Amino acid sequence: MADKTVLIVYAHQSPKSFNCAVKDAAVKTLTDQGYKVLVSDLYAMKFRAAATADDVKGKLKNPQHFLYNEEAGLAWKEGRLSDDIKEEQRKVQQADLIIFQFPLYWFSVPAIMKGWIDRVMTQGFAYTLQNLYDNGLFKNKKAMLSFTTGGMESMYLPDGLNGDINVALWPLQNGVLRFCGFQVLAPQIFWSPAHTPDDAREALLEAWKTRLQGLQDEKPLSFAPTELFELNFQAGFRLRADVKEEFASKPYGLTTAHHLGKPLPPNNQTKAE
Ligand SMILES: Cc1cc2nc3c(=O)[nH]c(=O)nc-3n(C[C@H](O)[C@H](O)[C@H](O)COP(=O)(O)OP(=O)(O)OC[C@H]3O[C@@H](n4cnc5c(N)ncnc54)[C@H](O)[C@@H]3O)c2cc1C
Repeated sequence: MADKTVLIVYAHQSPKSFNCAVKDAAVKTLTDQGYKVLVSDLYAMKFRAAATADDVKGKLKNPQHFLYNEEAGLAWKEGRLSDDIKEEQRKVQQADLIIFQFPLYWFSVPAIMKGWIDRVMTQGFAYTLQNLYDNGLFKNKKAMLSFTTGGMESMYLPDGLNGDINVALWPLQNGVLRFCGFQVLAPQIFWSPAHTPDDAREALLEAWKTRLQGLQDEKPLSFAPTELFELNFQAGFRLRADVKEEFASKPYGLTTAHHLGKPLPPNNQTKAE
């Protein structure tokens, strides 16, 4: 593993937290295996979350109507992004695998991590109109969400109070990671550590270390292959008619969000097939 690099993007305020223990376990286990491990400890870095004109050095193209995508994309091309973004992009470039370690906030990542995504995954660097999904710029990299929840597992079942966790994971796993081409590994979910007894928490950390040892050989999650869609504006980038026809007789939709009005394929965003 000497030539492999893992970047852990970590968002928790407290070194006494369970998230910190999970992050530390990953750093040690991966380093012991020979990976080079980089950590972006976002709160410690006081990472700025808001995507603003301060991210661009030099003259703006259109200061009257500031468009973040356009200005940041141009600044990336011309090496004019702010130093904190450039530093994170250097880490992303080096990384073979990115682990996002965080407590679930409002069914998503904490704002500071969302800010990292907004600001570091710049147009041109992380995606272009031609480079999305299967053709994504990061198709040779892997990414994975590792997070803790307040709610217990049963609350996130399809009949649980909070609803199916697979649905909650779609925006991050498909809308961010897969969109940029990453091969997405199954998420590591630590259900409600605050309401778990001490010895069970220790066992969770041990299971995490064991998983990390086999990460290299894990199959990624399944998403809809990009070739199944009509990739042009006239057709609206919709699923091909022959694919829809093929799915008409199947019991489940294609993915969590390409459900085609059918029951969702079970565990689509939580387990590799
Ligand atoms: C703004 C906000 C929004 C939220 N939204 C949601 C939401 O949408 N859905 C949801 O489910 N939850 C939500 N939560 C709850 C949040 O996800 C949980 O509080 C969080 O995931 C718990 O993780 P933690 O690392 O902070 O746990 P901690 O409270 O830090 O840790 C849990 C326990 O583990 C112990 N511990 C620490 N280190 C170790 C170790 N090495 N070994 C064993 N035990 C250890 C700690 O002492 C503690 O007793 C939200 C919280 C906030 C603040």
